[in-house]
Amino acid sequence: MTPSSSAPSRRGVLAGAAALAATGAALSAAAAPAGAASRARPARPVVFRNVRPFGAKHPVDLTVLDGRITDERAPKGADVVDGGGRIALPALVDAHIHPDKTTWGGAWVSRKPASGIADFAAQDVELFHGQRRPVAKRAYGLMAHAVTRGTRAMRAHADIAPAYGLACVEGVAQARERLRQALDVQIVAFPQHGVVRAPGTAALLKEAARSGAVDFIGGIDPIGFDHAMDEQLDLVFGLADRYGVGVDIHLHDRDEKGLTALRAIINRTRALSLRGKVTVSHVFCLPGLSDAELAGVAADLADLDIALTTVAPNASLVLPIARLKEHGVRVGLGSDGVRDAWSPFGNADMLHRAHLLGWVEDVRLDAELTACYEAGAHGGADVMRLPRADLTPGSPADFLLVRGECLPQIVVDMPARDMVVHGGRVVARDGELT
Ligand SMILES: [Zn+2]
Repeated sequence: MTPSSSAPSRRGVLAGAAALAATGAALSAAAAPAGAASRARPARPVVFRNVRPFGAKHPVDLTVLDGRITDERAPKGADVVDGGGRIALPALVDAHIHPDKTTWGGAWVSRKPASGIADFAAQDVELFHGQRRPVAKRAYGLMAHAVTRGTRAMRAHADIAPAYGLACVEGVAQARERLRQALDVQIVAFPQHGVVRAPGTAALLKEAARSGAVDFIGGIDPIGFDHAMDEQLDLVFGLADRYGVGVDIHLHDRDEKGLTALRAIINRTRALSLRGKVTVSHVFCLPGLSDAELAGVAADLADLDIALTTVAPNASLVLPIARLKEHGVRVGLGSDGVRDAWSPFGNADMLHRAHLLGWVEDVRLDAELTACYEAGAHGGADVMRLPRADLTPGSPADFLLVRGECLPQIVVDMPARDMVVHGGRVVARDGELT
C-alpha cells in the first residue's frame, strides 16, 4: 500500500501506436513467469472478424491458434466471433494490487482517520475481522471485476503477518485458481506490519516461500517503518536466494532514506546474483532526482534488471516512466489498494489507471496518451515477464474490444469493455464474465 504524498498520510489518489505488424515481430517470449496460472488453451482455432487493431481505419480479421495470434489462414471449422468494427487493444496488466484488503462488492465502509502505516495496518486488521466474506470471496470479486475491465494478469500482494497467518495468501490463491482460465496471477507475501517490528512474521514468510504458496517475498520500508534495514533485507533476500522466489519490496521512504534502502537492495541483488528477480514498488525517492542523479541509479537498476512499479499517485510521486525506460528499466503500472481500509477509492480498472497516469502527468499529445496505455499493458507484462500482448503474430491472444475512434481518445474517454479475450477465449462480455 502507498502512504500519501505528504507522509505519513496516504496517497492523494484522484481519483503502439504500433499498427498491427504484418510480419511477425519475434516475440521475446520469455519462459512462463513464476506463478502465472497455467491457462487452458482453446482446442479450436478462432477468428475475430471485423476488428480494428489499435484503431486502424480498415477492419481486419484476427486469427487465433493455440491461444496466440497468427498470420496463418484460419483453418476450416474455426469458430468465428464478430468484432463489429470495434477497436482491438492489448489486454492490460496490473503490476501492483492488494486484492486481500478489498471490500469490493460489499457494503460501504466508513473510514476513520489514520496517520501513518501502522494506523492503516491496524485498520486492515479490523476490516479483516469485520468482513462477512472471507478473503477468497472478496479477492475473487475484485479480480473477476478486473478481468471484465480487460486485465489479463496481475501481481497480487497479500498481507502476511501474525494477525492473519497465511490466510490472506491462501485466499488470494483460491481466487487465482477460480480465475485461472482468464487471469495470470503472481502472489507476493507482503509483510505489511513489518518484518522485524512484527515478531513472528519472518517465520511466516519462510513458510510461504518454502511451501511454494507465493512467487515473491515482499518487504516494506526497511528504514522508515521497520527500523532495521540490514536485518529485514538480509532475511527477505535470504529467503529469495534459498527458495528460488522473487523479491518485490514496497519502498515509500523518500530522499536519502529511500536512496539508502534502494542502494542496499541493489547491492544484495548483485551479491546474490538475483539479476532480473527483484522489483521495487512505489520508489518515491526517485521522482525528485535530477536527470544526472537518476541516470546513476537507473544504470544500476538496468544492469541488474531490477523492475519498478508505480501506481501514479500524484504528480510528484509518479515514477518518471519515460526516462527510466530510456535507461532500460522495466516499469509497470498498478492499482494498489482498492476500496479498502486505506482508501475509499480504486476500481482495479487498468484503463482508468492509464487515464490517471495521463492526468497526473498532465499529458496532451497523442504519443503521450498512447504511452500511458502502453504502461498499463506492456509495462506490467515486462515486470511479470509475460510476453507482450501486442497483437503481432505469435503474441498471446489477450485483447479487449471497445468502441471508439483511436487509442489516445480511448485513454481519455475510457469506453466500456465490450469484450475481453484471454488466450483466444472470450472471457468477458459487456462487463460480465462469460
Ligand atoms: Zn502496495
